Amino acid sequence: MIYFIGAGPGAADLITVRGMRLLERADLVVYAGSLVNPELLSYCPKGCAVMNSASMTLEAVIAAMTERNKDETVVRLHTGDPSIYGAIREQMDELDRLGFAYEVVPGVSSMNAAAAALRAEYTLPGVSQTVIVSRMAGRTPVPEKENIRSLASHGASMALFLSVSMLDKLCEELMAGGYAPDTPAAVVYKATWPDEKVIRGTLSTLPEAARGIGRTALVLVGGFLSGPYDRSRLYDPTFSHMFREAEK
Ligand code: SAH
Repeated sequence: MIYFIGAGPGAADLITVRGMRLLERADLVVYAGSLVNPELLSYCPKGCAVMNSASMTLEAVIAAMTERNKDETVVRLHTGDPSIYGAIREQMDELDRLGFAYEVVPGVSSMNAAAAALRAEYTLPGVSQTVIVSRMAGRTPVPEKENIRSLASHGASMALFLSVSMLDKLCEELMAGGYAPDTPAAVVYKATWPDEKVIRGTLSTLPEAARGIGRTALVLVGGFLSGPYDRSRLYDPTFSHMFREAEK
């Protein structure tokens, strides 16, 4: 069986228990070496074959995974959660075509780890109930109708992947889309790794404050990062719901 597993954001104990148990009985692990913490490979048993996919093509990855016996445990280890910028769909489609069974084991995304590092909640009542996950167009294009400027017009909480190398342009676009220059913004570099860095600022100060950070970072934007909000209804003493009567 082939397993696509989310490795989590970095720290080796942030993989799921299910993911770790599968690594412990893996015969082959193909890991995304540019981002997955190699410490996770210490869960693999002796004799497990390990391949770094950083220098491999889709074809080579599929060939490596499918030349094993079908009763062996093959792990394709992706950073964070594989459903976010993980390029797993094309692998799953190829496996379907070739008749190989697979399962996906979710992981902790770096967008969760970054919020934890900032002690932040994306969905704050009275501020925003929406999280926009996106990126700047780079060598991989983004559909025109999803350009940052138009997404910014919602004023929602935003988690921007793969964009820190274009931070000046990103902040300009966010402001052009309607965020005020003093909107809180942060860069979280290598969340949960030993060299994690957290840089807080505003859309106008962040590019200077985060100068020098070129990759493996998220840019978070929105009022959820600081400032006023409303209390949640769920824990409000005057509010009744399915599990609790309002206090008189
Ligand atoms: N599937 C991954 C994202 C892969 S795309 C996930 O769920 O997190 C790679 C991008 O993710 C990086 O360019 C960076 O923007 C972000 N990223 C991955 N790990 C990170 C980490 N530990 N800290 C901050 N950003 C990270």
